[in-house]
Amino acid sequence: MTETTILRGRLLRFAGDPFEIGAEAALCFDEDGALAMRDGIIADVGPAAMVLADHPGAQVTHLGESLIAPGFVDCHVHYPQTGIIASYGAQLLEWLNTYTFPEESRFGDRSYAQSAAQTYFDEQLRNGVTTACSFCTIHPESVDAYFDEAARRGVRAMGGKVMMDRNAPNTLTDTAQAGYDDSKALIGKWHGVGRALYAVTPRFAPTSTEAQLAAAGALWAEHRDCVMQTHLSENRNEIKWVGELFPGSFDYLGVYEKYGLVGERAIFGHAIHLSDREAARLAETGASVAHCPTSNQFLGSGECDVAGLMGRGVRVGLASDVGGGSSFSMFHTMKAAYEVAQRRGVSLSPVHLWWLATAGAARALGIGEKIGNLAVGLEADAVVLDLASTPILRHRVARADCINEALFAQIVLADDRAVTSTLSGGRVVYDQGESR
Ligand SMILES: [Zn+2]
Repeated sequence: MTETTILRGRLLRFAGDPFEIGAEAALCFDEDGALAMRDGIIADVGPAAMVLADHPGAQVTHLGESLIAPGFVDCHVHYPQTGIIASYGAQLLEWLNTYTFPEESRFGDRSYAQSAAQTYFDEQLRNGVTTACSFCTIHPESVDAYFDEAARRGVRAMGGKVMMDRNAPNTLTDTAQAGYDDSKALIGKWHGVGRALYAVTPRFAPTSTEAQLAAAGALWAEHRDCVMQTHLSENRNEIKWVGELFPGSFDYLGVYEKYGLVGERAIFGHAIHLSDREAARLAETGASVAHCPTSNQFLGSGECDVAGLMGRGVRVGLASDVGGGSSFSMFHTMKAAYEVAQRRGVSLSPVHLWWLATAGAARALGIGEKIGNLAVGLEADAVVLDLASTPILRHRVARADCINEALFAQIVLADDRAVTSTLSGGRVVYDQGESR
């Protein structure tokens, strides 16, 4: 029999979706809790007295006042844009031409892609993100580098080759057929291998011909257990451009619907300026939205109506959208989501925000039965947080009357310094003490 290991400390998990059952019912917090792990899976979780009694021979690590929480899930990111994070002064379409395309052109070089993937996963794990769904570039080498690095570290990862056959530099375009063939070969090579899951990835409607969108739809129909990820209604000029490129479509989502790219396991980045029809169709079809608030603020794109979408039954997860997004930190991302909702007159609770950055994001990616929460049978992906990681947090948390107040202080004030360690599949994959 393999060994059971236990982490003992304060423990945060979810009993359900706070948007459905309310924050109070959704939050499970144990002041003295324990997480038991065996073979990379959560074997037991709950009050320490109960878990320790049920596993008498287990090796126990005492974490004192640290908080054990589900690993963060980032449901929309561009790992090849790690090197252009924090680039100045552009909105979406200019951003793509000025920063994104020149950088992504370099990813046909496998060693360049590998080095970027290493930097990317270092940052992801330092910030307690245990799973992300990333766009790669048009180059199959960029996908190999991404999944190779994820496998080397033992983390669950989702991603796919960008399909793009127009309105981009020659160095960054494939064709409808090559995009299909290369993606199909990558699905065969990576999907379901270890902890890798493939995502069919047309970049967005303006950079694919109708033939390529049709090819992407056909590919996804053949591999329906893959996620399909793309962008939707991020920027008003983009939406106008889509209208010019696809005059036969009555709205942006309609383009994707025409080519079979809307349904369960489809996840759309941004979805800010939606019509009533589009929001309703996302809900009806079981599609998901990746809410990218730091990116939306950084690029001046607008404010996604998260509460409105959730109220209609659309699945939403939080996402960094690095490099348009300005931070790998899910604390910063939750804070931005709070601020964006505030501007719409909605105050999202810390439980709602934390759920969107973990279980909600996992559900949006269709893998809520694997990751995103601390529950028996899920993969043992967790983060250990120091709730007093800076002087101001120590000061603020000491005055907190309840865990909700301490969690909200983390959302507003914490960063990677709060992440003491990150566990993936029950193994420590980042330790702040060792990395210093
Ligand atoms: Zn994006």
